[in-house]
Amino acid sequence: MQFQDMGLDPRLLRSVQHLGFARPTEIQQEAIPAVMVGRDLLVSSKTGSGKTLAYLLPMMQRLLKSRALSKQDARALILTPTRELAKQVYAQLRLFVANTPVTAVLLVGGENFNDQEKLLKRQPDIIVATPGRFVDHLEHKSVFLQGLEMLILDEADRMLDLGFLPQLTIINKAADHRLRQTLLFSATLEHTDLDALSLALLKNPFRVSVNSGHELHSDISQRFYFADHLTHKEALLAKLLQQESLKQLIIFTATRDDAGRLAEFCQQAGLPAIGLSARLNQAQRNKVMQDFASGKYQVLVTTDLASRGLDLLQVSHVINFDLPKHPEEYVHRIGRTGRAGAKGTAISLVGPKDWPALQKIEAFLRRPAEFSTLEGLTARFNGQPVVKMAPKKAAQTKAAKPGAGKATRVVAKPETSPTATAKRFFQGGDDGSAPVRRKKIQPE
Ligand code: ADP
Ligand code: MG
Repeated sequence: MQFQDMGLDPRLLRSVQHLGFARPTEIQQEAIPAVMVGRDLLVSSKTGSGKTLAYLLPMMQRLLKSRALSKQDARALILTPTRELAKQVYAQLRLFVANTPVTAVLLVGGENFNDQEKLLKRQPDIIVATPGRFVDHLEHKSVFLQGLEMLILDEADRMLDLGFLPQLTIINKAADHRLRQTLLFSATLEHTDLDALSLALLKNPFRVSVNSGHELHSDISQRFYFADHLTHKEALLAKLLQQESLKQLIIFTATRDDAGRLAEFCQQAGLPAIGLSARLNQAQRNKVMQDFASGKYQVLVTTDLASRGLDLLQVSHVINFDLPKHPEEYVHRIGRTGRAGAKGTAISLVGPKDWPALQKIEAFLRRPAEFSTLEGLTARFNGQPVVKMAPKKAAQTKAAKPGAGKATRVVAKPETSPTATAKRFFQGGDDGSAPVRRKKIQPE
């Protein structure tokens, strides 16, 4: 199927042509017609497979072809978990609204509220936003949703987390009418149970799914290394920085402090590196992303703030310095490479503290991790529980060769069903910057 066969407006086809895309990706072929039928959908496909256009194109088509339900209200609302992703989606959308009467604005936290209010006075058709700032505007009555025709959640499983529940509940209520179409998109949505929130959001939804979630991403080669402790991880990292032929690299760490520290570490190893964390103000965050996208920096060190959605085509490698606690986040992190058909490498360092996370990842992916070793840097830790021994016995064992290497291990069965595994509850900020935690939500 070609873009021309989809019944899209010629103005949209010209924009697609301008982007140089020869044909729709698999998920675009499946999802675009399904959205155009008008149903509520849950759409999942692997990272980097073109989900953004799979909703932008049919959304634009609907806005161009059908009469607005209301002249004043927003007609479509696209929500993303982070400011960086909202900006990226907005940048893509701008290409499609150009040369059409459709108007769009971006509303993210960390930027001037009054300026955004002024933009809303012009009654834009489409709003791309992070949920917290959007709800601020809703409560300020600078925007109304009674006429909303399409509600789109990108990275939907993340958006359905407890952290965003208050905002999504408010938005859902403000746009509560029969004619609204709701679309959920993510790479890890396939097994998500429809909880109370999604049931409230969706009407009789239909699932569209191509190669998502646990399926092996054929363009990303994954490697794992055992590590004994922090210094060992740093030695492994130093060697990897030397030996891998890196274009651009994203390193994920567990904490904001580590993001800065490891950026410094890479810098000392001779690679231009910068840290991105929610500790920076928005202007600094924008600058970091611009400088990384332009190639000024070769390495970006970050937390799960940047795990979702970001599309940076020069990223040849992802290194997990620490493993994420939630297996879906592993899928999203490694999905920052191997995008749009390019090949990528994902490397993970697994120390004793990462071991429970690794087991969850193996269960989620339904396959064992393949471990490699680097000469002179083989770990003693090999996934066996670390048993505290009497000093004498410990000294004897120290001399023994570790059995790590490529030992075959049995993958732990998921403790619960994949559906249950996919459901996470953690505290999330408006910008996705809060650490991924299963914790009771606290007032901000
Ligand atoms: P996803 O949301 O599925 O992770 P994106 O929508 O970010 O993926 O798209 C990944 C990359 O693929 C982007 O750089 C995008 O411009 C590109 N892309 C999208 N559609 C096509 C297409 N039909 N042909 C080629 N490249 C495409
Ligand atoms: Mg995406």
